[in-house]
Amino acid sequence: MNAKRPLIAVLTGAGISTDSGIPDYRGPNGLWQRDPEAPRLVTIGPYTSDPDVRRRSWLMRAEVGALAAEPNAGHRALVDLEQSGLPVRVLTQNVDGLHQRAGQSPRKVLELHGTAQEVQCMRCKVVGPVAEALDRVAAGEPDPACRACGGVLRPRTVMFGEQLDPQVIQQADAVSKACDLFLAVGTSLQVFPVAELPYSALGNGARLIVMNGEPTPFDEVADEVIREPISTALPDLVRRLVARYV
Ligand code: ZN
Repeated sequence: MNAKRPLIAVLTGAGISTDSGIPDYRGPNGLWQRDPEAPRLVTIGPYTSDPDVRRRSWLMRAEVGALAAEPNAGHRALVDLEQSGLPVRVLTQNVDGLHQRAGQSPRKVLELHGTAQEVQCMRCKVVGPVAEALDRVAAGEPDPACRACGGVLRPRTVMFGEQLDPQVIQQADAVSKACDLFLAVGTSLQVFPVAELPYSALGNGARLIVMNGEPTPFDEVADEVIREPISTALPDLVRRLVARYV
């Protein structure tokens, strides 16, 4: 009560979506540990030049799509945080769109690695829903081409071998510098440039809370480290923040 309402930046990674059944590709049991060839399927060079890589990439996407993942209590807790009236921004490394599906205002969510919900033609740049492309895969087109120009369709995600959108990273950095509290949820904080965001926050006097199953390089400088499962720990933390500031 009476405390200044803090701007809260929440950085989310794969860990918030694993309870929705979305595999953490990089994790200890992730696809990339089991299939060393898998990263090629999301690397821009092979994807652009090799139809067989694209065919396998579409099969992988169809498999993930078939999981029909739903938002979980962790995603919903961040919606509650926004609806409490506290200023909040979600910076996500995830491409699954589950924050928005849970009810987070799209304008509050910055997708650092793009979105897997849309595809884009690499030639004419037209954008369409991934569901439509996946329907075509299911109907027997192993590598669906752009209907407008015949170009290669790709997901609107940042692939290996590509830079993050500098404008998006700049916005994320600005939010991190402006925030009073930075929550890092379900991210290993080891992949740059995203791993620079907590530095930006700390450098400007923000408090840092790390919530992750595994240790991160920021644990020692964090004000609080939470190891409990995100789908219970995040609702608890949100209740605590709302009780304190609203
Ligand atoms: Zn096209």
